[in-house]
Amino acid sequence: MKVIVIGAGLGGLTLAHGLRRAGIDVAVYERDTPQGRPQGVSLHLDERGRSALHACLPPAHFAMVEATTGGPREQTLTLSDVDGELAITGVQPSLARPGRQVHRPLLRAVLLTDLDDVARFWTEFTRFEQRADGTVRAWFADGSTDTADVLVGADGIGSAVRRRYLPDARVVDTGRRMIMGATPLRAVLGTGLPGLIGHSPATARIRGTTVVVAVLRFSEAPLSARRRWLPALRRTAAEIEDYVMWALPATREPSMEMPPALRTIIGEAWPDFTVALRIGSIPPPEPWRAGPVTLLGDAIHLAPGFGGNLAMQDARHLCEALAEAHHGRLGLLDAIGQYEDTMRRNGFTKVGA
Ligand SMILES: Cc1cc2nc3c(=O)[nH]c(=O)nc-3n(C[C@H](O)[C@H](O)[C@H](O)COP(=O)(O)OP(=O)(O)OC[C@H]3O[C@@H](n4cnc5c(N)ncnc54)[C@H](O)[C@@H]3O)c2cc1C
Repeated sequence: MKVIVIGAGLGGLTLAHGLRRAGIDVAVYERDTPQGRPQGVSLHLDERGRSALHACLPPAHFAMVEATTGGPREQTLTLSDVDGELAITGVQPSLARPGRQVHRPLLRAVLLTDLDDVARFWTEFTRFEQRADGTVRAWFADGSTDTADVLVGADGIGSAVRRRYLPDARVVDTGRRMIMGATPLRAVLGTGLPGLIGHSPATARIRGTTVVVAVLRFSEAPLSARRRWLPALRRTAAEIEDYVMWALPATREPSMEMPPALRTIIGEAWPDFTVALRIGSIPPPEPWRAGPVTLLGDAIHLAPGFGGNLAMQDARHLCEALAEAHHGRLGLLDAIGQYEDTMRRNGFTKVGA
């Protein structure tokens, strides 16, 4: 069996590893460079994403991810301004989705490691054609083509595969906006905030402005984890350091009335990792009949704050289904249909909830 994956994002790369480990031939096509576009520095990894990575990645890759997560995030704090200083004024003892923070560019670099023979960059997918023999041919902007038994659109929110396969499924603007950034921990130690919140995410609502902050202190320094687990990792792990991530609604400039600790965190942010987001959603399309083309992750459902976990979870489920077909325990279209039922259940009910 051969599978073409469009998109070397979190979902596509997790799928590529899983398929290869299952003995299935896979080719990934990505329009960007291996570094990709900026998508922020931090990702909250919950049990869905973690168990998908565990199932799909080679053990050393997974060990590298585990070694470089932040501490456990089990509660949410509320911060308030007390006499001009930030203080904890509330503790919500359980987090809706407990997990740990991971450094996103590092996670992507881990996912790219050892896929040189599988992933092709600067190759933009444009269209596909379903052929009479049941296979699918994909076309790329440079005029090249490739043919496989299955074509997977893991090409994110603007998915060209979805636009052609399910043209009625469209992204709608929720009207919500967010600015997210990250600031080196060393630049804000003097504010006292990192010590105050520990590993817990914290929400500060001060004079009409809401800011969410969280600290990532690497469990093991990325450089030493790389030496121990994944020497083939290309990214210079030395340049990665502990940081504070922050997010705030983007309707206006951060209030200059905010406490100095928050002003410092936002003022000292890394420009490369500061992103402005328009939050979209995809209303659930009517279930469709399974075919040799399918979709995963943001290409089919959007979940602000946990879309990456869903994309990796989809990758795991699709990989398991295709492995069943590969080993002759399930017909190919039945396997894809079963995956799509699960993906719709996980993706759309949770998003709508
Ligand atoms: C700032 C920020 C913070 C976030 N925080 C979290 C978080 O804490 N937890 C969480 O779970 N999620 C988070 N998300 C959401 C998460 O990033 C996405 O849900 C996730 O990246 C989706 O993965 P994916 O593989 O479906 O798509 P993507 O990761 O978007 O990958 C799609 C890939 O397809 C490529 N592509 C697109 N079109 C084509 C084409 N025509 N041909 C070839 N390649 C193509 C793109 O270049 C891209 O590399 C965050 C997102 C942002 C922006």
